[in-house]
Amino acid sequence: MSKTALRVAVLIVSTTAAKDPSTDSSQAALSEVLAKEDGRWEVVETKIVPDVASQIQEQIMLWADRAADHINLILTSGGTGFTVADNTPEAVSALIHKPAPGLVHAMLAASLDVTPFAMMARPVAGVRNKSIVITLPGSPKGARENLQAVLKTLPHACLQAASIDSRALHAGGIEKLEAEAGLRSDSGQARAHGQHHNHGAGHQHSHSHGSSHDGHRHGHGHSHDHGHGNLVRHTPSSANPMSNDPNLGPSRRSRESPYPMLSVDDALKLIKQHTPPPEIITSKVDVSLPGLVLAEDVRAKENVPAFRASIVDGYAVVVPKGGDMKGVFPVVSVSHASPGEAKPLKVGEISRITTGAPLPPGATSVIMVEDTILKTMTDDGKEEREVEILADNVKEGENIREMGSDIKAGATILSKGERISAVGGEIGLLAAVGVAEVKTYRRPILGVLSTGDEIVPHDRPGTLRLGEVRDTNRITLMCAARECGYEAIDLGIAADRPGTLEETLRHALRRVDFIVTTGGVSMGELDLLKPTIERALGGTIHFGRVAMKPGKPTTFATVPVKEHSSGHRTPKVVFSLPGNPASAIVTFHLFVLPSLHRAAGIAPEGLPRARVTLAHDFTLDRTRPEYHRAVVSAGPAGLVAVSTGGQRSSKVSSLRGANCLLCMPSGDKPLRKGTTVDALLMGPIRSDLW
Ligand code: AMP
Ligand code: MG
Repeated sequence: MSKTALRVAVLIVSTTAAKDPSTDSSQAALSEVLAKEDGRWEVVETKIVPDVASQIQEQIMLWADRAADHINLILTSGGTGFTVADNTPEAVSALIHKPAPGLVHAMLAASLDVTPFAMMARPVAGVRNKSIVITLPGSPKGARENLQAVLKTLPHACLQAASIDSRALHAGGIEKLEAEAGLRSDSGQARAHGQHHNHGAGHQHSHSHGSSHDGHRHGHGHSHDHGHGNLVRHTPSSANPMSNDPNLGPSRRSRESPYPMLSVDDALKLIKQHTPPPEIITSKVDVSLPGLVLAEDVRAKENVPAFRASIVDGYAVVVPKGGDMKGVFPVVSVSHASPGEAKPLKVGEISRITTGAPLPPGATSVIMVEDTILKTMTDDGKEEREVEILADNVKEGENIREMGSDIKAGATILSKGERISAVGGEIGLLAAVGVAEVKTYRRPILGVLSTGDEIVPHDRPGTLRLGEVRDTNRITLMCAARECGYEAIDLGIAADRPGTLEETLRHALRRVDFIVTTGGVSMGELDLLKPTIERALGGTIHFGRVAMKPGKPTTFATVPVKEHSSGHRTPKVVFSLPGNPASAIVTFHLFVLPSLHRAAGIAPEGLPRARVTLAHDFTLDRTRPEYHRAVVSAGPAGLVAVSTGGQRSSKVSSLRGANCLLCMPSGDKPLRKGTTVDALLMGPIRSDLW
């Protein structure tokens, strides 16, 4: 660190990042690469500008044209693609005094080693005054790889560019220069590294270049960086549809998702806004009613009880004035809890009565059997003839439940918006007052579709062929939907072909209210959901990216479907969830469930929230809020949460036992044990972990 660091300025070119700097992660990626060079580089300035040529140029000139404190290296990131908005190379070219095609060649050659799509890269490099200017791609990965391809030779280049007297610079020979600039004194090796893309020399080329989503990145042995970096947007949001045209093939797809990155809250707002309102139907009061929400106030049709009833086993009596019932009385009738006409009772007579049975006409009170003695029996010994009553001071109405004393006919027993539960007594209440039908909101029907050429039915016998993946999501989501009370229809597996997918979706849209798909929403050329929804089905994508982990490419759309009967166009809801199983289940609970709730009239929508205490330290994602699968259990100290383990979105094992999603903020430092956070409860709280 003895030498003075070379001064670097980084210019992020992105209309999105210019509005919301938090969406940019290339800056961090570049700083990281530079920091690895042992203090040789110092990032002294960073700026973000939109994809506007004049603004790009203005900033570069501010840096490259200053008289003192000049910048050695100006790196731009973004705006290098083929779309209309991409104009960084043109803006920079116009400013370059000395083009550096060698640097361009080195960057292209290194990228071409990774993917033929590098042919579409259009880097520009050169010298303006004393500064080297290089344009890098907008994706953190691309920017990083391109910079790494030329980085070792840049100190030398910078020193040359800065030197007024090149003879003085070369006085000690090239080896001295390289040594000063920190290149290995064995200059042959140093050059081989730069020019021959030596794979053994620490390049990070094991990343696949063509895809920038979660799914295709894991399995390379990089434990953390597997494609979760925030993407920078380079295309205008005004273009509609934003999805790729699948007919144009991989070389013409967008290199970055054109969908704005939304916060989870904003995504939920859009879901609330665009989910069709609940539909009112007449439902029978039967075992299928629980879970439904009432669309009307319900009034009692009848009194409960419907007649004067005894609340004890004993004898119905007509209480004389003063209440003295002591004496022996003939048992003239029996009133069981069964329907039928009863004989009127007179003073001096009693009638045997059971709990819940109607009082005979004329009876005013009931004496408990415990307050009586059997006096005489019928000749066959089977029936009571006379009973002695021991009670004194008996009041009228004693041990009687009056007609309508529980519920009066006409009274409101349940209100609009109330949900009929299976554990509470609402269903019994309806049954008691003679209500056989109620107006409710219709429960939406959900169809679940898996997509992907590699996906095979989970129960397909035999071993998997190379590349095949057992369908994990369909059964998981169908079960989750059913557990939440919704009918889930199996829509099978659709191949990654536009026609197949369109046909499957069209057919499904006629049968169901909601479609939930998994897979195919990332950035691969076979990721067809967004284009199929927008281009083939005429749907509207309300959002296509959410700042969260896992689940970034979650897509929410509505598609108008013409009803055969009425000819009306009804919007149907399509959720396209990411393919990784953990992402799929998390986004189901977080986004699909609130939408189902809204369509079913359930409020508030979504999972219940509780504050829980972390049982151990939790590492956070640096850029995105994370929904961490965890187990919540109740104990003496309240609710405590334990992680289910590794949270990679492809990790099926992280689903085991999870009954909640912890709402973790993004951040650099871990959240410590004992911190309280919000948990979204997916299932019953456990109590066996103490
Ligand atoms: P995609 O979103 O299509 O790029 O898929 C991302 C990852 O999830 C890939 O590794 C897929 O193989 C995997 N995947 C997609 N659908 C399923 C599924 N139904 N079951 C299990 N894994 C899946
Ligand atoms: Mg796929």
